[in-house]
Amino acid sequence: MTVSDLLELRGVSRHFGSFRALDDVDLTVRPGARHAIIGPNGAGKSTLFGLISGTLPTTSGTIHVDGRDVTRLSVDRRVGLGVTATFQHSSLFLRETVLENVLLAVLRRAGAGLGVWRKVSARAEAIAQARTLLERVGLSSRYDEQARALSHGERRQLEVAVALATEPRLLLLDEPAAGMSPAETARLTELIAALPAEVTVLLIEHDLDMVFELADTVTVMHLGRHLKTGTPDEVRASTEVQTAYLGPQEVAS
Ligand code: ADP
Ligand code: MG
Repeated sequence: MTVSDLLELRGVSRHFGSFRALDDVDLTVRPGARHAIIGPNGAGKSTLFGLISGTLPTTSGTIHVDGRDVTRLSVDRRVGLGVTATFQHSSLFLRETVLENVLLAVLRRAGAGLGVWRKVSARAEAIAQARTLLERVGLSSRYDEQARALSHGERRQLEVAVALATEPRLLLLDEPAAGMSPAETARLTELIAALPAEVTVLLIEHDLDMVFELADTVTVMHLGRHLKTGTPDEVRASTEVQTAYLGPQEVAS
């Protein structure tokens, strides 16, 4: 690890019984990176995010954030250190309004929850923060609607706002464009591209156009192993990568 890496995984494995979902993975992410993780279904990408965010314990190996060993820390402790994930399966409160969803995350970040809520000045500040975040993700006209009234794409935008409310230094996005229309994907791509450099982005995505538009670094995973990390051009040109995606015959011919 160079001192400047924000995230470092060393020899990380996750086994389910005798099955090696992740096997001896090394990975580093530098601050400010737009780092994409790609690979066929079952490659272990979501498992990797579980280990980084802390929802899933490692079988072996170490995870460092900013030089600090977080391998055994809880999800909440990692969020406190700036590691925040949005998940492949939505975790929104569908009966609450769009604003309330973000507000809950803002208050949680403030750490005081309802204590803060009783102070009128703090309440106004939290609402202002939540509104700013919703403007940033393009949901400013939907504050007062129930989250369940949002389209699929808008829900993903809301999830990003909820994640940003935790003031992440490392934002993990697991297939944020899954199920989105082309227009929604384009809007989400713009939103991610516009995030400040203080937010390092680690993105799992199947939409390779989105990956190659956003990413400065691409890691390819295959069958639980780290296959290759490089620039988008290096990854595109790699025969190993083409083999993992297409099988050897197609690459040879
Ligand atoms: P990806 O996100 O790259 O599609 P996953 O990380 O979801 O892959 O899964 C990697 C492999 O691990 C898959 O073969 C999957 O079936 C297996 N796996 C994931 N979670 C579990 C679990 N809780 N129990 C058993 N096997 C699992
Ligand atoms: Mg997955």
